Amino acid sequence: TKAAELVERLTRWRDDFPTPGVRFADLTPVFADPEGFRAVIDCLAACAPDADLVAGVDARGFLLGAGVAATLGTGVLAVRKAGKLPPPVLTREYSLEYGTAALEIPGDGVDLAGRRVLLLDDVLATGGTLAAAAELFRAAGAEVVSAAVVLELSFLEGRSRQGDYPLTSVVRI
Ligand code: IMP
Repeated sequence: TKAAELVERLTRWRDDFPTPGVRFADLTPVFADPEGFRAVIDCLAACAPDADLVAGVDARGFLLGAGVAATLGTGVLAVRKAGKLPPPVLTREYSLEYGTAALEIPGDGVDLAGRRVLLLDDVLATGGTLAAAAELFRAAGAEVVSAAVVLELSFLEGRSRQGDYPLTSVVRI
C-alpha cells in the first residue's frame, strides 16, 4: 500500500537508542510528511470504521488518535503515563526490560461502558504497552474492537501478548 511504502521510505533508524543494543525506529519523518501522515491515518481508520471512540497511547499514539478520530468522526481519548491525569483513574502496570511502568485512563467523566474502542500506538515492540492499554478499557467496561500500530517489530513477538482483538500493522518487519 501507499502507506506502507511511505513508512518504509521515511522511517529513520537509530542504533543504540535509548539504550545500547536497541535499534530505534523513529517515525517522526513519516508524521511530518503530508502524504505520509494522510496515508497512515486513512490506513488506521480503515481498521475499525465502526469504532465510536479512538484511543492513543502516550505520546506518539496521541498524534495518530487525533487524526484517526477526526477522520472517523469520533471522540479521542489519551491513554496517559502514570501521574498525568487527576484522580480518579484506572491504572495498569506492565513490565519493561528493567522494572515496570504504568498507564492510566480517567475513572470518571467519560462513560466508557459499552464503548467500541479503536486503540492506537506508533510501534509494537514487546507488546506490553498495548496489552496494558487494552486491559484498561476492558476494566472500564469498554470493548477494544481493534488495535492498530504503524510499525510492528515482529521479532519481539508483541502480537502474542495481545488479547482477542484484531491487531493491524501498516508495516510489519
Ligand atoms: P512495547 O511495550 O515493548 O511493545 O513497546 C512499545 C512502546 O514503546 C510504544 O509506546 C512505542 O512508542 C515505544 N517503542 C518501543 N520501541 C520503539 C521504537 O523502536 N521506536 C519507537 N517507539 C518505540
